[in-house]
Amino acid sequence: MRRFTLVALTTAAVPTLATGATGCGFDSSTLQFSGTRLEQAKCLLQPDENDHQAPARGASLPAPLESLMTREFTLDTEKFRSYLHAHGISENDIGGPLDQPVSHSLANGHPAARYFVIHDTSLNVCTQTGKFSGSDSPSASSNLKQRWQDSEEAHLFITRDGKSIRPQGRDFSVPWRATKLEHVVGQRARGIFLHVENVQLRAVDLRPGESPLNGKGDCRNDRIAQTPGFTDAQYDRLALAYLDASSRARQWLVPAYHVAIDRGIADGHDDPRNFDLARWGRAVCEKLVALGEKCE
Ligand SMILES: [Zn+2]
Repeated sequence: MRRFTLVALTTAAVPTLATGATGCGFDSSTLQFSGTRLEQAKCLLQPDENDHQAPARGASLPAPLESLMTREFTLDTEKFRSYLHAHGISENDIGGPLDQPVSHSLANGHPAARYFVIHDTSLNVCTQTGKFSGSDSPSASSNLKQRWQDSEEAHLFITRDGKSIRPQGRDFSVPWRATKLEHVVGQRARGIFLHVENVQLRAVDLRPGESPLNGKGDCRNDRIAQTPGFTDAQYDRLALAYLDASSRARQWLVPAYHVAIDRGIADGHDDPRNFDLARWGRAVCEKLVALGEKCE
């Protein structure tokens, strides 16, 4: 989703990207944000400033995220595979086979994916806010597989009823870009970020007397996000996708919001809106405990 209030990053300013022009200080030579993994996660999980979920800057991350950013990766792949089998979930449904590596960059040293990027689809219904009430139904058009299966965006889509869809057959092994930052940095950034889109509807926010359409005949904005932003079924499936990606990377990937990755770049996006990090943390914890790992 496009934002309308960002300060433009001029062409002349692009080289400063390497020294921290973006909100979390992405270094385009090392392909990492600044700070420890925990510091990066805290910065990259800052939502849009219009979001009611915004925690205080520097606040602790909810369990288990703070712990995952500082502990060794010990999750047993075979236990995870058995868990999925017992629950009738295919590895392909949550990001791809556990015995295949995640994507790598073509940059020197071919670094593997480090960031697990959470998006919302910002599906704009403009003034048709009545669509919000039926949006969690499996039969809603926004929850149908065919709505997303040909999309050129992301590695995975998760619908509001918890289905997951591989767009164009992609999974986490395919280097793919889905943020402004990755396009500003260029091809070297391809493969460092894994992208998961979560279905959310948006509507237009109008001032009194304002037309919902702009001069081009398009909806003026998509600033009103659904509340709650996401369903339990989405948080659950997103937790499994995070475990799939991290298992294949053999480290807990740094979770990140799209909005935080693009912060400071002109025309950056604002998603995900109304993402409940504590609720997602509980879904991750539930899986960890079921797999014999600590939730702390
Ligand atoms: Zn996004």
